[in-house]
Amino acid sequence: MSQAGMARSTRAIDVGGTQIGGGAPVVVQSMCATRTMDIDDTVRQVHQLAQAGAGIVRIALDNEKEVPALKEIRAQSPGVVLSVDLQENYRIADKVGPYVDKIRYNPGHLHHIEKAKSIADKVSWLVSVAREHNLAMRVGVNCGSVAPDFLRRYPGDQLAALIESAVYHCGLLDDLGFTRFVVSLKDSDPAKVVEANRRFASQRPDVPLHLGVTEAGLPPDGIIKTRLAFEKLLAQGIGDTIRVSLTLPHARKHEEVLAGHQILADVTNGHFISVPDFGKGLNIISCPSCSRVENEKFVELAEQVKELTTYAAQHRLTIAVMGCRVNGPGETDDADLGLWCGPTTVNLKLKNRKLGNFSYDEVLARLRTELDRLIAERSAA
Ligand code: SF4
Repeated sequence: MSQAGMARSTRAIDVGGTQIGGGAPVVVQSMCATRTMDIDDTVRQVHQLAQAGAGIVRIALDNEKEVPALKEIRAQSPGVVLSVDLQENYRIADKVGPYVDKIRYNPGHLHHIEKAKSIADKVSWLVSVAREHNLAMRVGVNCGSVAPDFLRRYPGDQLAALIESAVYHCGLLDDLGFTRFVVSLKDSDPAKVVEANRRFASQRPDVPLHLGVTEAGLPPDGIIKTRLAFEKLLAQGIGDTIRVSLTLPHARKHEEVLAGHQILADVTNGHFISVPDFGKGLNIISCPSCSRVENEKFVELAEQVKELTTYAAQHRLTIAVMGCRVNGPGETDDADLGLWCGPTTVNLKLKNRKLGNFSYDEVLARLRTELDRLIAERSAA
C-alpha cells in the first residue's frame, strides 16, 4: 500500500536512487523558478525545495549556454535528485545528461526543431542519451501544447489527443525496450486532469504517473484546484509522484512541497475537502514560473490581477497570467482574457485576439476595461 490511496501495480523505476511506482511512497516534486544562469539563486532554491521534502527537484534549460551553470548547480547540490525540463529544445539532452538524474520531454514540443527527422527517431535518440547517462525519463504531455499530429487526428477532442499522444510515446519507448519512464498528463482544469489520468491509467496500468494541475495559480485557490484532482486520483491509487504548481515568490516557493505533503497526508488519513461552489465563478490561472520568466514582477502581477478582479468573483470567466512569451500565447488560448510577461511590457489578449503590449503600470487598467466589457456583454446576452 502506498502512503496515499490504494496500491496500484505500476512498475518501479529508479530516479537517482529514489524509487517511483511499484508501491513506493508517492514522491513530491517541485521545480526551480529561478534563472538557471543565476547559479547562487538556483542552488539556494534547490536546497530550499529539497529541505522542504521535495524528492526530486526540476530545473528548466533550453539553451546549451546554460549547461555550465547546470554543471555547477549539480556540484553544489550533493544528494539532491535533479531532473531537467528540456522545454522546446530536446537536442540539449546529451549535454545536460551528465548532470541530472532524469529528463522530461514534452511530445508536443518535439516537432519544433529538426523538422525532417521523425518523432520516433527523436525519441530513439533521447533513449540512447538516457541509457548512456543512466537517466530516467518523463513523458510530459500538456493540454496547452498537444502535438499537432494528434490534434489533427482527434479534431475537437483535445483530451483524446492528449491521452493518445502519451499512449503513442509509451509505445515508442516500449519498442525501444526502455521501461524507466513516468508519464504526466496535465491541464489547468482539475476535472480534465482527473479524466485524462483515469483514462490513461486504464490503458497503461503499468506506467507510473506523475500528477499535476498546471498553472493552478496563487494559493489558496491553486492548492484547492490541485487537491480536487489529486484527491480523486490518489484515492483510486492513481499517482506515483506529484507536483503542486503554485504562483509564489521565490522565498515561498517551498510551499509547493509542503502543500503536496499535506495533500498526501490528508488522503492517507481519509480527510477530503469539500468546497461548495468552488470553480463556479471567476477562474484565475497562473503559471508557477520557471527559469524563463521574463520579469520578476510576474508574481506581483498575478497577485494584482487577483486583487483587481475580486469584484467579478461571481462571473464565470477565466483570466490566465503567464510568465513568458514562449508559452504565454499558447497557454492563454482557452482563457477569456490572457496576459503574459515580456521583459518590459505585458501582452494582453481577449480570447484569441491580441489587444497589444502595455507597461506593467498600464496593463491593469486595460484589463479592468476589458473585463467590464465582457461582463456587460454577458449580462446583455
Ligand atoms: S509560462 Fe513560461 S515562465 Fe511560466 S512556467 Fe511556463 S515556461 Fe515558465
